[in-house]
Amino acid sequence: MKNKLTKKQALTKNQSLVLKALRKAKQPVGAYELLDQLREHGLKAPLQIYRTLDQLIDLKIVHRLESLNAWTLCCDAEHDSTPVFAICNDCGSVNEYFDENLTSNIAKISKKSGFVADRSIIEIHGRCDQCETS
Ligand SMILES: [Zn+2]
Ligand SMILES: [Zn+2]
Repeated sequence: MKNKLTKKQALTKNQSLVLKALRKAKQPVGAYELLDQLREHGLKAPLQIYRTLDQLIDLKIVHRLESLNAWTLCCDAEHDSTPVFAICNDCGSVNEYFDENLTSNIAKISKKSGFVADRSIIEIHGRCDQCETS
């Protein structure tokens, strides 16, 4: 296991700014929302935001939720497993889960088909516990 602190120290100024904004948000954040929040800190171009987010994804700190076109912090920055995101359609809450069987099944599919998986992410839409009971 790598030391998370070392990783944190290695972040660039832009990466730290984006990370801070994502941490502050309780929900996944879109690129333009980030741009609005970080404009005063010198991040003025969408490209800067996208590039920084890509770097954070490579560092495994952030995930991109394709179905929302938004980004969210990873709940555990060292996992190699496929994250499963449960996304509530009502309140927008997002939870990250892991499932060993799912991860190994995805690996099996790749092996069988000769496909080389780069990264995988599962997004499930529905209603969260809280919205379901209210
Ligand atoms: Zn994650
Ligand atoms: Zn909900």
